[in-house]
This record gives sequence, C-alpha cells and structure tokens, in this order.
Amino acid sequence: MKRKLSFFALFIIIGIILYSCVNEKKAKETQSAKGQVERQEWAIVIHGGAGAMSKDIMPHELDSLYREGLSLALATGKEILLKGGSSLDAVEAAIRMMEDNPLFNAGKGAVFTHDGKNELDASIMDGSSLAAGAVACVTDIKNPITAARCVMTKSEHVMLTGTGASQFAKEQGLEIVPPEYFFTERRYNDLKEILKKEKNGTVGCCALDKNGNLAAGTSTGGMANKRYNRVGDSPIIGAGTYANNITCAVSATGHGEYFIRWTVAHDISALMEYKGLSLREASEFVINDKLAKAGGSGGVICVDKTGNISMPFNSQGMFRAFATSDGKGGIFIYKEEDDKR
Ligand code: ASP
Repeated sequence: MKRKLSFFALFIIIGIILYSCVNEKKAKETQSAKGQVERQEWAIVIHGGAGAMSKDIMPHELDSLYREGLSLALATGKEILLKGGSSLDAVEAAIRMMEDNPLFNAGKGAVFTHDGKNELDASIMDGSSLAAGAVACVTDIKNPITAARCVMTKSEHVMLTGTGASQFAKEQGLEIVPPEYFFTERRYNDLKEILKKEKNGTVGCCALDKNGNLAAGTSTGGMANKRYNRVGDSPIIGAGTYANNITCAVSATGHGEYFIRWTVAHDISALMEYKGLSLREASEFVINDKLAKAGGSGGVICVDKTGNISMPFNSQGMFRAFATSDGKGGIFIYKEEDDKR
C-alpha cells in the first residue's frame, strides 16, 4: 500500500513538472507573438530624421539614396556588434557614417541657420554607467558625435559648447574643418527644393551589444533657419538621447523644443522603470499620445535591454532601419511601411 502511494506521489510530481514546462514554453511563445522577444544577442536601430516625407513627393532616386545611406550606416554598426564590439562603438561608427553623408542633417549635410551658417549638436550615452557627453553649437568639428564621446570619456563635464568645445576637440586630436566644409553647393542645390518642405532631420543610433550594454547617440544640424545660437533636444541628455541598461536606449528626432520640455527620451525609460510598461507601450504612448496631443512632431528609435526594437513617429515619415541577431531587420521611410517586427 505504502509503495503504491509513493508511486502515485511520484507520478503527480512528474505531472506537475511536465505541466509547468509546457506552460513556460507557451508563455514564451505568447511573448514572441506579442513582439516581445527573448534576449537578442545584439540589436541595432538607426534613424536619419523624421519629417514630412511622403511617397508622392519623394523622387525615386532620392528614396534609393536615403535607403543606401541608412543601409551603409546600419551595416557599419552591425559589423561591430557581430564581432563582439561595444554598443558605444557601434553607435559612434553608425552615426559618423551618417554625419559624413551629405543627405542627412548632421555633420556634412547640416542645415543652415538664419545667418547662413551651420551649427551642430550631438550627444552620446552609455547605458551601463549612465556616463554621457555632448557638444552644442559647434561649427568646425567634422564629427560631432566623436567629440561628444570624448567629452564623456576625457573630460569631467557632460556638455561643452561653441568655441570651447572646438578647443577641447582640437586638444583631443579630432579632425577640425573650416566651417565651409559643411557647405556643398551641388548637394545644396539638389536638395534645396526638398529641404524647403523638409527643414529638419537629425541622425541617431541605439544599440545593445553581446555584453548586454545599451548605448544611444544623436547628431544634428538642428532646425533650419534657427537663430541666436539656438540649441535643440539632440545634445540634451534625457530629451534627445538616453540610455540605461535597466530599461532602454533612445534617440529622438523632431521639433526639439517639445522634446526638451516633455523630456521624451527619459520619459520612455521612466515609464518602463516605474510603471513596468514594455518598450513599445512606453514609446508609442510618449510619441503618439503625449507628444502628439501637445503638438510636438517627430519620433524616436529605441531598443530595450532584451533587444526589442520600437520606432514610433507622429510625423509623415521617418528614415529608420534596424537589425537584430535573430536575422530580422529592414529599412523604412514612410508611415505605410510595416516596420513592426
Ligand atoms: N530635434 C532636432 C532639433 O530640434 C531637429 C530634428 O530632429 O529634426 O534640433
């Protein structure tokens, strides 16, 4: 009788174990179905600015050039992550590629101020330590994102501006260019018409590396026609850029004054940290509810600590692309393109 009982107990225990295994598998599958993947080995997402780009007005050739530019930047960052490099290296390299491409409103392709000059802003943040660096209103640093990273790692400060930032960049051995470097006549004329409609831009990148570290960076020429050394959200930590290993990495693009006042990038992280929202819930809410209701146009790209990607925007379009270690990825410009993974 005793033996029979212990067999019965053993049978029940095995049953319970099997049942919980099946349930756990099911829960994971449902998670994937909801778009919440298990931890990706690495993930990268970039943007080349949000704005009024629609399929009807975008010339086919320009559409292809933008996709090519995004693809090259994404591939550069992806290569670094694949080899086990850091998310910070991937973010800096991908952004440098876009800064050197005159199509994007950052570095070489920066838009013009009211006085016909180019003033650039950039920032970068390390999600593992919450270290951050930024430069604002710089006129002669070829790659502001690299200057931002130097501010983070080689100075005691978070943000340097104007001539002081240039002096620091020179001391760090960064490439300094004459301000005319940012003027390209051919590109300027080619794009003049489109820039009339599409006045801003910005580039950004967020990445998760194999060590589980998140990083985010943003670089811009700011809003075209800006005056009085105006500085937007892009170099402001918590507004245009934020990264924290316990939540996510975010880079923004859009009407900077709104992104600053609504502390957009940090708000997304805070909703995840304090309210337990998923990356998609938090970012969609901030961009398509809060910011949209306030009248702030633009979007964000973000990646969370498990490699989920989200790219919401409330403007007509946003140049954006992503790749993850499970082989998924894509390049998108318009709203009607399905970018949900
Ligand atoms: N956010 C940038 C700024 O306000 C511009 C943009 O992303 O379009 O400077």
